[in-house]
Amino acid sequence: MGLRYLSKFVTLELDEEKCTGCGLCLEVCPHGVFSLGAGHSSIQDRDACMECGGCALNCPSGALRVRAGVGCAYAIFLGRLRGTEPCCG
Ligand code: SF4
Ligand code: SF4
Repeated sequence: MGLRYLSKFVTLELDEEKCTGCGLCLEVCPHGVFSLGAGHSSIQDRDACMECGGCALNCPSGALRVRAGVGCAYAIFLGRLRGTEPCCG
């Protein structure tokens, strides 16, 4: 298994209404997060996303959003500061 992000902390969002199914996000994503079917992309493996931002940067339809560069290190740091579980916000 490849690197995994902290479960449920990934900020990746896909607006299927805006997606044209060009498939660019599948080519760009280094972690195989997306799959293509029914005319649009879908998030197949959300927790594999490392929030590099490549998909959102390259999507020609503006269908993808992700808080690039946040990463799980930030969540762990914030959790330690607050004495809580890892948390991004
Ligand atoms: S790059 Fe954007 S428009 Fe193209 S398949 Fe992915 S989400 Fe859809
Ligand atoms: S942010 Fe990076 S790792 Fe996450 S889905 Fe987009 S391209 Fe893949």
